[in-house]
Amino acid sequence: MSDAKHRANGMTMLPTAERVLALTFDDGPDAEFTPRVLNILRRYGTCATFFCLGAEVAANPLVAMRIVAEGHQIANHTWSHPHAADVTVSELLREVSNTSDAIAEATGERPRWFRPPFGELTDVQAAAISEAGYKVAFWTVDSLDWSGIAGPQIVANVVPALENGAIVLHHSAGNVAGIVDALPDLIEVCQRLGFRFVRLDEVS
Ligand SMILES: [Zn+2]
Repeated sequence: MSDAKHRANGMTMLPTAERVLALTFDDGPDAEFTPRVLNILRRYGTCATFFCLGAEVAANPLVAMRIVAEGHQIANHTWSHPHAADVTVSELLREVSNTSDAIAEATGERPRWFRPPFGELTDVQAAAISEAGYKVAFWTVDSLDWSGIAGPQIVANVVPALENGAIVLHHSAGNVAGIVDALPDLIEVCQRLGFRFVRLDEVS
């Protein structure tokens, strides 16, 4: 989203001037792409943050457990990925709380970070989420991997937009063969540019 940096109700960049990036992966954990993303991150010794759907955690609890066991941050992305306009505040809170329960049951870890589906969050919803104890994260750079584009295009979308403290949006479920293809190149380019990868909760 072009206005991602101007959001008042959540974080769009890490509050640091250090040469770090946060890789984030939404919509998992599925049984196909999330394990492949995890394999690549493990190969490079890279950590990331996974914004998971409760329905997917319930369906793939072992993949959720693997996210935590391999040192990544697990976070909340609602149960069913609704548009903000389609849920009341209490419905959204129920989605979030049921998702945290599923994540805690699968992994033993209760998430403290939330990213709204589609990046949509009203100020009233944001206040309720914050009141419930969650930090809200949007992103700095959208890889557009969800649109089904190929790996080289994903790399071309992300690399020119990188800056210190950037939060990079990817997906680990859906029509995302492209990100599995792009991720090794992307990690190597970022490393050559001197970036270190961090979890959101490491620096904020
Ligand atoms: Zn999503």
